[in-house]
Amino acid sequence: MEIEVLSLFPHYIEGPLKESILKRAIRNNLLQISTVDIRDFSSRKDRRVDDRPFGGGPGMVMMAEPVVAAIRATRRDYSRVIYLSPQGPLLTPKKAKELATVDHLILLCGHYEGIDQRAIESDVDEELSIGDYVLTNGCLAALVVIDVVARFIPGVLGNEEAAASDSFEAGLFDHPHYTKPVVFEGNHVPDVLRSGDHAKIDAWRKTQAFERTLRVRPDLIDKVLRQ
Ligand code: SAM
Repeated sequence: MEIEVLSLFPHYIEGPLKESILKRAIRNNLLQISTVDIRDFSSRKDRRVDDRPFGGGPGMVMMAEPVVAAIRATRRDYSRVIYLSPQGPLLTPKKAKELATVDHLILLCGHYEGIDQRAIESDVDEELSIGDYVLTNGCLAALVVIDVVARFIPGVLGNEEAAASDSFEAGLFDHPHYTKPVVFEGNHVPDVLRSGDHAKIDAWRKTQAFERTLRVRPDLIDKVLRQ
């Protein structure tokens, strides 16, 4: 899978790709990620890509021309162009799994007050939000999408079973986890986990996951029951 991130701060994107699981996925050719600086597509000498909003108001708006030029220079017949935006549908595991099957993903990051609406209408396939809050720019949102999507690319995690038991996969949270030592600051690992009885362990984990979900996110339980 290939992902190209269009933004004004390519270095912002590059750092996290040099660490941990994403670094390994890139090294193993499971994922190819490159960055494009939208300023390279500015027709102005000073490389400016923003201007004041029509109608007045605070902040600046990214101009359509450099954004559209950057997308068109990057797009292929089979690309999917996604604009990271708080106004898009929310990113979900289902959406991430679907995106993991796309061969060429273009992630467009907004800055300032956002992007001229005409560029979004003419060249963006869909919008995607990472949550009901507003970030200073789209780079962090693009990194979140990359990270979540990468987990669903076969071979990236190395242990696909672990992903299958993660939170939200069965609609609920994951169960709590424990490792050595058996006693930490007087707090014991639950006996059942050291019993060797796998049926009991499984039942205990399911109950724990259910109880915690009910306490913190009852809306998730409602969703599971409605399915
Ligand atoms: N004026 C815009 C609004 O209220 O909808 C917010 C602009 S925000 C300061 C700048 C950029 O950050 C956006 O264009 C978008 O690319 C990105 N961004 C902010 N919040 C986001 C979110 N929750 N999900 C995805 N991208 C986000």
